[in-house]
Amino acid sequence: MKTPYLEIDLSKIHDNAKHLITMFGVRGIGVMGVTKSVLGEPKIADCLIAAGISSLGDSRIENIIRMRKANVQALLFLIRTPSVSEVQDVVAYADVSFNTELSVIADLSRVAVQQKKIHDIVLMVEMGDLREGILRQDLGKTIGKVLRMKGVRIIGLGTNLACLSGVKPTKSNMDDFSRLAETYERSYGLKLHVISGGNSANFDWMLEDDTKGRVNNVRLGEAIVLGRETLLRKHIGGLHLDAITLVAEVIESKRKPSLPEGETGLDAFGNTPVFEDKGEMLRAIVALGKQDVHVAGLVPLIDVDILGSSSDHLVVDASRAPLRVGDRVRFGLDYAALLSSMTSPFVGRSYIKDQSQRWPRLRGIPERVPAVM
Ligand SMILES: *Cc1c(COP(=O)(O)O)cnc(C)c1O
Repeated sequence: MKTPYLEIDLSKIHDNAKHLITMFGVRGIGVMGVTKSVLGEPKIADCLIAAGISSLGDSRIENIIRMRKANVQALLFLIRTPSVSEVQDVVAYADVSFNTELSVIADLSRVAVQQKKIHDIVLMVEMGDLREGILRQDLGKTIGKVLRMKGVRIIGLGTNLACLSGVKPTKSNMDDFSRLAETYERSYGLKLHVISGGNSANFDWMLEDDTKGRVNNVRLGEAIVLGRETLLRKHIGGLHLDAITLVAEVIESKRKPSLPEGETGLDAFGNTPVFEDKGEMLRAIVALGKQDVHVAGLVPLIDVDILGSSSDHLVVDASRAPLRVGDRVRFGLDYAALLSSMTSPFVGRSYIKDQSQRWPRLRGIPERVPAVM
């Protein structure tokens, strides 16, 4: 297979999803699988469904359309508030959309009436992270106005923490969120089916030994595909960290000095590189660069150190793992590396379903990798 490519182990993604469904499920919380990091890939969506997930969320309407056209059998949620320019597609392809703006909901209402549909919406509430959300003091008024619109139905409330400002989901803010649901169900006689409390950063909150109130849903992306919670990037026990890895190929391998020769200025990206004198070393070039992946989020799974990278070259110190031209090197990924390699036109995909073709690992992915968003 042409390199570089992402190797996607569906059995590991399936295991991770199953494990998370059980852990959240015993606490009364359902899992929505978030597919944006895998671009709504139908093979992965089907794998999540096989593991027991019945709703899938994606922030991009293109990915929702892709899953709809592939006849993916789940409720499809657009989890970013729709752009005005995409409301036609949102009503046509998404079962539910997350919303924060009355003018957008009014557009959805008009289009839903035209398309002779009822479009379901979840209102996102701002609980402190200051990304998307209706302010708590405006929620009642917003619900009142939406209830007067035709073609749209409020099916739940959602909130999102820990993404822009890193605000932790805690008992306190989750209980406040839960109480909002109770308040507005009572005052408007509404039935809110989905009370969606957060994302992979809600893992520790989930483990706390107390009631979850009305919160009955979380939206999990990174935890499923990378096996980590996202507040501290801790490994979630029992989950695979290497369900998706990146494979690239060595195109040069030579013994060279570790210090550059001549006067130095800025590198190709305007940074000032620093080098340590380790004498002569085996320097291998992997055909992989910033056009393929966010290099800082790569963790080599063999015993080499990344020395630097440019658009198309990744240079590693291969003194301890003598690499030859043509050898393949495998890397673990953080979230930024996953997103960037998934969206690079230069990176292919290979899917594996069984255990037999797995390569031996010389060095595991460390318990923590730097948090890069
Ligand atoms: C991306 C996203 C998620 C999933 O986040 P993970 O950290 O990958 O679990 C959940 N909710 C919203 C609104 C998102 O945009």
